[in-house]
Amino acid sequence: MSLQLLLATSNKGKLQEFQEALSSLDIELVSATEKGVTRFPEEQGSSYAENALLKAGYAALATGLPSIADDSGLEVAALDGSPGIYSARFGGDLSNGERIAYLLNKMREVPRGARSARFVCAIVLATPSGQIKTFEGECAGEILEGPRGEGGFGYDPIFFSPELNKTFAEASKEEKRRVSHRGRALKQFLDWALTPTAKRTMKDTLVPAEDDY
Ligand code: IMP
Repeated sequence: MSLQLLLATSNKGKLQEFQEALSSLDIELVSATEKGVTRFPEEQGSSYAENALLKAGYAALATGLPSIADDSGLEVAALDGSPGIYSARFGGDLSNGERIAYLLNKMREVPRGARSARFVCAIVLATPSGQIKTFEGECAGEILEGPRGEGGFGYDPIFFSPELNKTFAEASKEEKRRVSHRGRALKQFLDWALTPTAKRTMKDTLVPAEDDY
């Protein structure tokens, strides 16, 4: 029987993205919902890694399964690294389009050449006995003066990737995964997951395997 690893999210899109990225591993990535975890602690940490640990640690203790969670955000140099860990709620209760407009308005005086930004992602693995492992990925880019492209989500239409020579909203899923912060953090996880230490860590479960009965 393959190892079960829980992804601490209630976002189906994220589950699918992680399942695809980790499909080469002999691991069954199960959703939090499937294991009865439907709510997570508030993201009150002061870093991406702390927020991811809050979710992964909670899920590991609630289910007895090793669990992973991610947290990410956009950091704009001209805004001193804002919105950062507050990316999802930047500007308050806004639609995605309104949030983009809010950010662009804050940057209206910032000239081309000074609009650098990066996406950052932390993935944390937590086990029921308290082992913790953190993986991070980054992607550098620039904030455009207006949106371009229809794909993706969040700040994708205004994030221009010099590596792809297009915005994340203009990129295919595969292109984005190759260079994105989340894609890179997932690659770090994937490389580690193939090591013997990783296999031992991921066997740290309080849920007995079926053949233990
Ligand atoms: P989460 O931690 O993945 O839920 O992301 C937090 C917030 O950061 C999202 O709500 C988006 O606003 C922003 N964000 C993170 N990753 C991306 C991305 O790949 N594209 C666009 N926005 C992102």
